[in-house]
Amino acid sequence: MKLDVAMRTDRGVVREQNEDAVGGDPEAGLLILADGMGGANAGEVASSLAVEMLMSHLASVSAENARVLGRDDLLNAVQGVNQAIMELSQQIPEYQGMGTTLVVGLFDKQSLLHAHVGDSRLYRLRSGAFKQMTRDHTMIQEMVDLGDFASFEQALMAGVPTNILSRAVGSEDVLDIDLAESEIEIGDLYLFCSDGLTGMVTDDEIQSILENLNLDLMQQADELVDYACRMGGMDNISVILVRVMASDS
Ligand code: CA
Repeated sequence: MKLDVAMRTDRGVVREQNEDAVGGDPEAGLLILADGMGGANAGEVASSLAVEMLMSHLASVSAENARVLGRDDLLNAVQGVNQAIMELSQQIPEYQGMGTTLVVGLFDKQSLLHAHVGDSRLYRLRSGAFKQMTRDHTMIQEMVDLGDFASFEQALMAGVPTNILSRAVGSEDVLDIDLAESEIEIGDLYLFCSDGLTGMVTDDEIQSILENLNLDLMQQADELVDYACRMGGMDNISVILVRVMASDS
């Protein structure tokens, strides 16, 4: 198997700055998306620090040990980023309170290992089924999960804000990280995205763009961002698309 990858990050229509960051090493099967928060340019600092630290840390672990990276490597790397952001935000007044969401994917020949904190998401399109593989770490999602509301829609109608994170990288000493592993199949299409996409574009609309075979992968990434902008572009928009292909295709 091999991976075809397209990534884009965009300021959107309304915001002055882009506090999202995307990156990784597609050859090594590593993809990272982060959505930073904090005053001044602190959000930008947090998200780009997260992407750069993860890339260099995971590259050096894999070079030193000459083996496939595993769950502990990923967890340790994310905890390291958490510590670094916390320390920076305690040392530098302008960075106080900064943090970032994170979705990290590590692909090998058979599987995808992904770690996630916050409300950036990972989706998978497989044989017409479009599935969200992460569960948002937001106050509204936790209230629904605890049974405070019968459904997400009811919580929305009751006026619960959607944008308050219950977890973020850089916000607590011991960070609780969601980690999951899944089998991959040829033909799978994975989408990593920030809430600037999902806040503007419904899952059905995203799916129909991903199923548009007139567009290649980069054009699909462009169309996701452009569509979110046409719908208002209220926030920064980032997408990473990963298509799993046969090695000889
Ligand atoms: Ca955002």
